[in-house]
Order: sequence, then C-alpha cells, then structure tokens
Amino acid sequence: LHDSPFSDFLGFELLLEEQDRELLSRVRAFMTREVEPVINEHWTRGEFPHQLVPAIAELGIAGLAYDGPGCPARGALVDGMVAMELSRIDPSIGTFMGVHGGLAMGSIQLCGSEEQRERWLPAMARMELIGAFGLTEPDVGSAISMGLATTARRDGDGWVLNGEKKWIGNASFADLVIIWARDEDDGEVKGFVVEKGTEGMTFEVQQDKIALRVVQNSEIHLRDVHVPETHRLQGATSFASTSEVLRVTRMGVAWQAVGCARGAYEHAVRYTKAREQFGRPIASFQLVQDLLVKMLSNVTAGTAMNVRASQLQDAGLLRDEHASLCKVHSTVRMRETVGWAREVLGGNGILLEHHVGRFVADAEAIYSYEGTREINTLIVGRAITGESAFV
Ligand code: FAD
Repeated sequence: LHDSPFSDFLGFELLLEEQDRELLSRVRAFMTREVEPVINEHWTRGEFPHQLVPAIAELGIAGLAYDGPGCPARGALVDGMVAMELSRIDPSIGTFMGVHGGLAMGSIQLCGSEEQRERWLPAMARMELIGAFGLTEPDVGSAISMGLATTARRDGDGWVLNGEKKWIGNASFADLVIIWARDEDDGEVKGFVVEKGTEGMTFEVQQDKIALRVVQNSEIHLRDVHVPETHRLQGATSFASTSEVLRVTRMGVAWQAVGCARGAYEHAVRYTKAREQFGRPIASFQLVQDLLVKMLSNVTAGTAMNVRASQLQDAGLLRDEHASLCKVHSTVRMRETVGWAREVLGGNGILLEHHVGRFVADAEAIYSYEGTREINTLIVGRAITGESAFV
C-alpha cells in the first residue's frame, strides 16, 4: 500500500497504472513542498500564488481527463485522484485547476469544433493560456438554465454580448473566459470564448470571502462586447451542452470534496498523536479514536463512490444523476469530516497555522458551487422517481 496508508486505507490508488501513480506522487510532493508552506499567507491576504503556476504547468495535469489536441488523455479516474490530491493540501489550488483544466478546457473540448480545439487546447494544457468559465449571474445561480439573462445578439459576422456574471473564478487574470449567453433570436444558451482585453469586458474581484480566499472570483460586466463567430463554441447549441460540461466537472468537485476531507483528517491524526493531555497522547482516548475512525469512514466511502463513477465516466456511461449523487455525498461528508477534525484539535483547530481551519472554511464554498446540495439532490430525485421537483 501507499506511503500514506492511513488515509488511502483500502488502497484505491493501486487501481491506477504505474505511470499514473507516479504522477500522483509528483503532485503530492509538489503540493507538500511548494504549496503547503506558503498557502496560509496567501489565504490571509486573499492573493493567488501566481508564482506557482509554471511549476503546476510542469506537472502536466491540466485537462488530464480529456483526449483533445495536446491534452494528456489519461482518463477520468486519475484526473479525479489528482483533483483529490490538490485539494488534500489546498482546496483553492484544487478549485483553480477545476476551473481551468475542468470547466474552461472542458467547454472547448466538449462544445468546440475540431478547429477550436486545435486552436486553444494545446496552449491551455501547457497552461500558457489560463481559462475561466462564466455561467452564474448576480440574480441567478441554481435556476441558471431558465433564468440566464446575459444576451448574445447576432451582428454581421459576429456577436454582441451584454450582461453580468458573478463568482467567476480566475476571470480577472484569465486569457480566455467562456461566457454563456442567450441568443436573442432563438432563445438558446450558447458559449463564447472571450479573450482577455476584449473591449467592453471588465472585472471586479469579489472581496472579503470567508472561504477559498486564494481563488480570485469576479463579477464580470459585459457591455457591447464584440466576439467573432469563430469564437462561438460551435457545438454548444442549447443549455444541454453546458450540462454536458457540468456533468464531468461535478465529478471533479466530488473528488475535491474528498480531498478536502482527507487533508483535514490527516492533520487530525498527526495532531492527536503529538498532543498530550492527562499525561497521554489524545489519540489514545476512545472518544478521539471514534472521531478519527468516523472521518476515515467518510473519506473511504467517498473515494469508493467516486472511483466507481469515474470508471463509468471512462467507459462513457456517466449520467447526470451519478455525478450529482457523488457531489452530494462527498460534500455532505466533507463538511462533517472537517468539523470533526477541527473538534479534535481543540482551540488550535481555529488557528490558521494548523491548517484545519482553512479546510473548514473552504469546505463551505465547495459545498455550494457547481450545484448546491439541494439542486444535486433534486437531480438524483428526478432520476429515481421520474418526477421533477425543481419548480
Ligand atoms: P441560489 O441559487 O440563490 O440558492 C440559494 C439557496 O436556495 C441554496 O441553498 C439552494 O440550494 C436553494 N434552492 C434554489 N433553488 C431551489 C429549489 N428548486 N429547491 C430547493 N432549494 C433550492 N459560477 C460560475 O459560473 N463560474 C465559476 O467559476 C464559479 N465559481 C464559484 C466559486 C465559488 C467560491 C462560489 C461560492 C460559487 C461559484 N460559482 C461559479 C457559482 C456557483 O455555481 C453558485 O453559487 C451555485 O450554483 C449556487 O447558486 P447561488 O449562489 O446563486 O445560490
């Protein structure tokens, strides 16, 4: 079993090929050596560690699951485990990669033409171009399929976009922002690749977040933004196309949630072995062991569920309700697990220097983005009953 057998308890990583296990070890070493020592400072200041991007690019993990031009094409299982590995040390870095390598690259891979894939994906895989994904709006999140209000108007050879977006990760520094807008003519949602510096697109970075403070989320204002037809994702003809992207990236979020829980659990195990009370390590107390074992159960069950769903994804059999079930389960159990980890650290659990407090805070954002617990529950509910309970 692995160098960290106490958290990959059932040895899921042994399901990977040797080459992918090595990749996972490299990611783990990088995150432990380069990210963990500096991340709390960035979290406090709410700053993204741009200086780490070249080294992340070197890992070759952007768009790992996709088989488009220049993409690593290693499949969904290792992609998921890498997402877990990133978030195990820092959920903000996990989210940054989820947005760039999952949502933005996924939009081009799944909804772009062959020419568009050739044009953008190789540079995105090398992380020379960074992507963002603009779907959510200030007035509509969960009901975006119905309420999306950003408009796209045909104008000669191109399009004119108008509207507002909110919560868009990476947008303020991204080279390409995927903007989802409703065609004024046919009422369908379409995707557009808007390049950095395009006139009329401005950003306001959202301040004072209490979670994922390292991730830069922005409001985007779009005022008569001209986009050529070559930048309209040719395969995105309705909201169903957006949902195809979200189906696979939601699995990524389920893996991030297990990573967040796993990171907090590992800090908790180490702490309880080092901390002494009543003359003994607190790890020796039955009530403390009870919490550690419950945390490990959550992490292990979440991993098992996600492994199977990722295998379905690799086999082309993943359905919306599979990804939603994994997202609901992993995020609910994550929230429970990080809470228990904080509990066994006592007062130190709320000090940033012990890391667990950051996991507790960051879990709140992972819990809500890419479909809240309620929305993902309703997707599964609809699948098992045949009844839609959304409205
Ligand atoms: P609302 O939709 O207003 O929901 C509020 C509450 O009402 C929730 O509890 C919800 O479950 C509940 N609710 C709503 N409808 C129903 C219903 N029918 N039945 C029962 N309950 C219901 N978006 C992007 O496009 N790109 C990004 O990069 C991005 N990054 C994000 C990063 C962070 C840190 C966060 C917090 C969000 C991000 N988002 C992004 C947006 C995210 O996907 C939305 O926040 C999420 O979909 C929920 O939408 P909302 O916040 O508007 O909540």
